[in-house]
Amino acid sequence: MLAYTAPSTVEEAVRALAGASGVAKVLSGGTDLLVQLRSGRAKPDLIVDTKKIPGISDISERDGGFVIGAATPGAVIGECEALRQAWPGVVEAANLIGSTQIQGRASLAGNLCNASPAADSVPALIAARATCVVAGANGRREVPVESIVTGPGRTSLDRDELIVEFHLPKRPPRSADAYLRFIPRTEMDIAVVGAGVNVTLDAAGVCTDARVVLGAVAPTAVLVPDAAAALIGRALDAAALAALDQAARRACRPIDDKRGTIPYRTKVAGVMARRAATTAYERAGKRR
Ligand SMILES: Cc1cc2nc3c(=O)[nH]c(=O)nc-3n(C[C@H](O)[C@H](O)[C@H](O)COP(=O)(O)OP(=O)(O)OC[C@H]3O[C@@H](n4cnc5c(N)ncnc54)[C@H](O)[C@@H]3O)c2cc1C
Repeated sequence: MLAYTAPSTVEEAVRALAGASGVAKVLSGGTDLLVQLRSGRAKPDLIVDTKKIPGISDISERDGGFVIGAATPGAVIGECEALRQAWPGVVEAANLIGSTQIQGRASLAGNLCNASPAADSVPALIAARATCVVAGANGRREVPVESIVTGPGRTSLDRDELIVEFHLPKRPPRSADAYLRFIPRTEMDIAVVGAGVNVTLDAAGVCTDARVVLGAVAPTAVLVPDAAAALIGRALDAAALAALDQAARRACRPIDDKRGTIPYRTKVAGVMARRAATTAYERAGKRR
């Protein structure tokens, strides 16, 4: 029989996960988990609903950066003006998830821990150097977002662990991010390719730091250091964009399915990376 608990502290949630006799699943918004329950793909013995934990659905500013509770819905993320100003790429990625109804529930923790290669918020979070706080029976640890997903549907979390919050660092001057995805339809579709880019410029408009991350072109989101290297030390000219495009293509290990062949996804990855870099660069240039 399926048991359900809604603890009011992180410690209680960890105790419930650690003490579960069968499979336990953490519930945030439920937009993935409930679909999987109904289809029979997930058959947990226990559901640990986090939404009664204080702060788990809140956003706050700390040390010039942001703390986003693990279960904060996309709609709340989109309404936080300070977050939108500082991390427009992260916010646009979170707000691309699903529809208005889905936005009322879908969280960053759920998007990450569902571990879909096409999850929209993940490339943007990795590009932002976001970290997450993981709580478990051995206490809390703060880890980079890119260390969580190990493959489609798989994470590095232990059975007694859950994500409590995400940290976004302080934004340096003249820096900005952007996220773009390609879908065959206009909305409510899964990314064929996603690209998150985060750049910092100097006063002359030369890129001094960059992170480029691709989604949906490999078993997990891919951080592409060669693509970042194509941007760093240059203004965003045609040569930099061409080098970025090539580096993005080289990083692709996509699947071949009805939504896109390998050559198609690979080509689109270069295009998405260029466009996301152009938007991030333009945004950063306005922050002088
Ligand atoms: C109609 C529809 C459209 C969608 N469109 C998109 C889209 O465009 N882009 C996209 O990326 N996704 C999309 N999704 C998928 C889904 O909405 C997102 O992945 C969403 O962010 C999941 O968040 P959630 O809070 O609902 O997760 P949940 O369903 O609550 O959880 C998902 C998984 O994460 C685990 N989990 C949840 N919280 C935690 C935690 N704190 N710690 C550890 N593990 C946790 C759960 O156990 C479960 O395995 C769509 C889904 C639907 C139904």
